Amino acid sequence: MDLQRFTQASFREDLHELEKATGKHQRYLVVVNPVSRGGKAMREGVWLVKHLSRLGVSHEAFFTDYPGHARNIVKRWIDSVDVVVAVGGDGTVNEVINGVMASGSDKPLAVFPAGTADDFCHNVGISRDRKKALEVLLTDSSRPIDLMRYNDRYAAVTLGIGVDAEIAYHTLSHKRIRIPAYFAVGLRTVFIERMQKSPRELRVESETGVLEGRFLIAVFGNAPLYGRYVYWLPEALMDDGMLDMSALRPMKPIAAWSLLMKCFDKDFRSDKIIHDRSTWFKVEILEESFMQVDGEVYKVNTGEKLDISVEQQALNVRLPFQLPADSGLSGEKTGPPAW
Ligand SMILES: [Mg+2]
Repeated sequence: MDLQRFTQASFREDLHELEKATGKHQRYLVVVNPVSRGGKAMREGVWLVKHLSRLGVSHEAFFTDYPGHARNIVKRWIDSVDVVVAVGGDGTVNEVINGVMASGSDKPLAVFPAGTADDFCHNVGISRDRKKALEVLLTDSSRPIDLMRYNDRYAAVTLGIGVDAEIAYHTLSHKRIRIPAYFAVGLRTVFIERMQKSPRELRVESETGVLEGRFLIAVFGNAPLYGRYVYWLPEALMDDGMLDMSALRPMKPIAAWSLLMKCFDKDFRSDKIIHDRSTWFKVEILEESFMQVDGEVYKVNTGEKLDISVEQQALNVRLPFQLPADSGLSGEKTGPPAW
């Protein structure tokens, strides 16, 4: 680690304006998943903790040891803090959110991005720039977003069934990546190979009707951007009280791949993509498949059922004052900086 970076002089020069941050006198619970971003999240966590200390911000920091640990830490400590901070990728954010929801608390979530895809952060407009992310975190201003509830758990960005999860399942064992980051690392070959075998039979019911048959992919979500680059649900908003779905029927792998690549453009639309919007979806797995929830992969068996529904304004989140034009939130931000 570059110690020079942490000298008092450079610190004062870089971050002195944060001395006036409106959330500086609150207590922060910092939950770091050190294995996120292929192990680099540890460095992000250390940077954050050092800067909180230097700024005199009250905090408790925990580094997770096992899957589910982040959720347990949040449940155990949330009552003694004002803000919960997730340091990691989408899987870590998901766990922390599930901890907040399980505790029944309305305390805000802040995120310090340290994952591979960081879809949650991209969708709410939190920059990967450490200083900017710290500024958002220390600002006493938050805003509610909807969550996606499935069975008895919560997801913030996506729940996908089909080829996206299957590729992840087969690549996770020998690559230190978390999907949907495979778009970012260019696993085109794997994608095309897997796609030939991937279509699975599903039954999807919503407010608008029933879809049945074979699907290459069906993604349910609450935010436009997925896999860091793909606007798979381009019209989804995180605070509109609705969930979106985009699905593909079986098609030639190369055609599906090129369709996905076109979704790098938020304005791209295609009638080959089946779209639906509803406050709930009931999904029945009619053929063994794979599912990813905010990037974490699960196998799902024939006959399994998923009850997906929107939970409106379920979670308070610390957001930037000025949302980027492509964020997944509607309307204007809460107001100008308070300092
Ligand atoms: Mg929505």
